[in-house]
Amino acid sequence: MRVLITGGAGFIASHLADYLLENGHSVVALDDLSTGRHSNVEHLLGGPNFEFVLGSILNPDVVDDVVGRCEAVFHLAAAVGVHLIVNHPLRSLATNIRGSEIVFEKANKYGTRVLVTSSSEIYGKNRSDRLHEDDDRILGSPLKSRWAYSEAKAIDEILAYTYWKEKGLPAVIVRLFNTVGPRQTGAYGMVIPRFVAQALRNEPITVYGDGTQTRCFCYVGDIVRALAALIEHPDAYGRVFNLGSDDEVSVQRLAEIVREEAGSHSEIQNVAYEVAYEEGFEDMARRVPDTTRARELVGFKPTVGLREIIRLVIEEQSLAL
Ligand code: UDP
Repeated sequence: MRVLITGGAGFIASHLADYLLENGHSVVALDDLSTGRHSNVEHLLGGPNFEFVLGSILNPDVVDDVVGRCEAVFHLAAAVGVHLIVNHPLRSLATNIRGSEIVFEKANKYGTRVLVTSSSEIYGKNRSDRLHEDDDRILGSPLKSRWAYSEAKAIDEILAYTYWKEKGLPAVIVRLFNTVGPRQTGAYGMVIPRFVAQALRNEPITVYGDGTQTRCFCYVGDIVRALAALIEHPDAYGRVFNLGSDDEVSVQRLAEIVREEAGSHSEIQNVAYEVAYEEGFEDMARRVPDTTRARELVGFKPTVGLREIIRLVIEEQSLAL
């Protein structure tokens, strides 16, 4: 298959490109390099089955051209990272809403199957034991950037679902929970690359809030395998799937593990949310996915534990020091 990946130079997208190429597919990566990085795909450039297209999903002509040449679309281009969303809300909304509309419109024009990556942010403040795909969303005011982001992702989901329902477009929706691994940048807020960078420099590790909030971190390699399986499964169309780990850890404990694994002397420092983000910022207290649906359909199962993931990120960042 020739496959288009929007946001193809991003962290998850570049791992997906590696995986698809290893499995005999051709990949066209579309990226405007706003947050994606050339270095993520540098090793693929010049390969016979890889094409990099510098362009934006906001440009309908570019999207038309690349979608028209591919048999499947992984739509991963999006504004990501809580810092980015808080600091550039308009740009984030345009990318996430208008960009997705253009991608779905073109996929529908050519009848090309599409998988869109949504986010666990969809569930907002719902802190259930295990978030199931049908669970309620609990959101604050849409005037707060974080909830605006959640709304934008919900619109992506509604668009994909409605194209499937009304037009028969084969569309799969995936809600990604915290996905981590090498090539993820800390520049937009992601906690693991930030903690590792701080630990390696023996600088204070900045835990936002009191550190009791929990997350589950899944290795990117486990996620991309599931993305590839889902887009090929006819029973996935018109449905939404959670993907993520259910191994829950508090952010305070995460800081301790990173410090331990890095052999660092960093102190662990608490930073108030309003200092880290903005006045009135609300964090999710916990976020644990129920991934039964993806397990039952495509055998999804995380295989890389938290310490191993952290070691891989430490290894990568140590090389760059
Ligand atoms: N976080 C932190 N220090 C940082 C960056 C993030 O304590 O330097 C916290 C953040 O407030 C959140 C958790 O780590 O509670 C995960 O943050 P991330 O941005 O990686 O993902 P998300 O908030 O989307 O789950």
